[in-house]
Amino acid sequence: MDKVQQLKTYLADVVRLQQTLALLGWDQQTYMPPGGVAARAEQVATLSRIAHEKFVSDETGRLLQEAASELDGQGYDSDEAALVRVVQHDYDLETRIPTRLVEEIARTTIQAHEIWANAREGNNFAAFAPILEKIYDLMRQQAQALGYTDRMYDALLDRYEPHMKTADVERLFDGLRQELVPFVAAIFERLDAVDAKPIHQDFDVDRQAEFGLKVIKQLGYDMTRGRQDKSVHPFTTGFSVNDVRITTRYMPDYLPAALFGSIHEAGHAMYEQGSAQSLEGTPLAGGTSLGVHESQSRLWENIVGRSRGFWHHFYPELQRVFPDQLGKVDVEQFYRAINFVSRSLIRVEADEVTYNLHIMLRFELENALLEEKLAVKDAPEAWNEKMQAYLGITPPTDREGILQDIHWSGGSVGYFPTYSLGNFLSVQFWDKAVMDVPSIPADIGRGDFSTLLGWLQQNIYRHGRKYWPAELTERVTGEPMQTRSFMRYLKAKYSDIYGT
Ligand code: ZN
Repeated sequence: MDKVQQLKTYLADVVRLQQTLALLGWDQQTYMPPGGVAARAEQVATLSRIAHEKFVSDETGRLLQEAASELDGQGYDSDEAALVRVVQHDYDLETRIPTRLVEEIARTTIQAHEIWANAREGNNFAAFAPILEKIYDLMRQQAQALGYTDRMYDALLDRYEPHMKTADVERLFDGLRQELVPFVAAIFERLDAVDAKPIHQDFDVDRQAEFGLKVIKQLGYDMTRGRQDKSVHPFTTGFSVNDVRITTRYMPDYLPAALFGSIHEAGHAMYEQGSAQSLEGTPLAGGTSLGVHESQSRLWENIVGRSRGFWHHFYPELQRVFPDQLGKVDVEQFYRAINFVSRSLIRVEADEVTYNLHIMLRFELENALLEEKLAVKDAPEAWNEKMQAYLGITPPTDREGILQDIHWSGGSVGYFPTYSLGNFLSVQFWDKAVMDVPSIPADIGRGDFSTLLGWLQQNIYRHGRKYWPAELTERVTGEPMQTRSFMRYLKAKYSDIYGT
């Protein structure tokens, strides 16, 4: 395996540069003083350029070819075969886009971010429209450069969810929409059934932090290989399998923000910490796609963290931490409050039931804009019509409508569906885990998360990026991704809460 070893050694430099870039990014969002911005931008630009040049070089291409020819007889499941397979995919993605286009996208999105932020602030879509048109034009050029056989969107989706096809997402969404839209409408008839006041009170931030930290440690987030800090937007980042960090933000008058935010990020982090040590320092460490990553954050946040069993264990302690606020609220009232459904216009505030409708809308608009079936100037109206059709509400302003998300201004077209794919997969993985280890729900009720974490570790985490998302899903659950399990989960949980 001389040639595979050479490839690995060569790529180790690229991996270390990327890890260092991640460290600089973490520092920028946590501790860097404002004065550091300009120097940091230069540091990041220099390291990014060196990492990119090294990776897209002919040397990588040559080493890949030689390593591939050496693989004869190596099983598909071997680390060596996986390394060649995954790096070839990354290499193709990065080398197909001409440098000129990479630079133009970078330049345009830096401008667009500022324009979008101002347009949102001033509720002025017309101010954002010209640069959004330009971004979609660049996305079309990018899709052409990357190549696709069926749909233009395939090329963009592949960057976030390797080998997933637009037609597959459409099929999943079409099936779900038929059941979900009437289910949401039925819950909206009964919104009074849940009182969310218990979670909207004054909660001392230091006590929130202490409790949240205790929870994520108990779930299995390894603090000897991780830490939690504060940032404006919560995120997870890793510089090694043995150093995976999360951030959170605290709201003094709303308990779920930090608590479920921490559990969500800890879910991402446990996935990253779980890569086999043999993958450390190689491009195979980490998560296999954004969808699978999100399946882990959602599984821990929603299926575990918003379950009755979880709170039967943790609630007495939370009541001790906040006796004035929660002393007279029983566990069932609290369970209902943390699972309240609302007519939110804003995706990031949406609950489990309505969340995927927000994603479907974006996915449909992205495709229509990309394929020029919808003009940018008509997009706000299309947005509002879909909101009315799916959620029965029309945003009063574009600020609460089409201008709310940062993604398009950053050139992240094709990203949104991965949030929903993560939701679907979270339930598929959970169902299989409970089928294999039936004690898991009862273990959670006793505050023992090791059986669930052990199963995830064994079946998903340790593989890192070795398997494409669809392969991993089939290997683990025995079937392709589907929405049946997710819808069954929603109906069981929320029919019980809302009496629908
Ligand atoms: Zn996430």
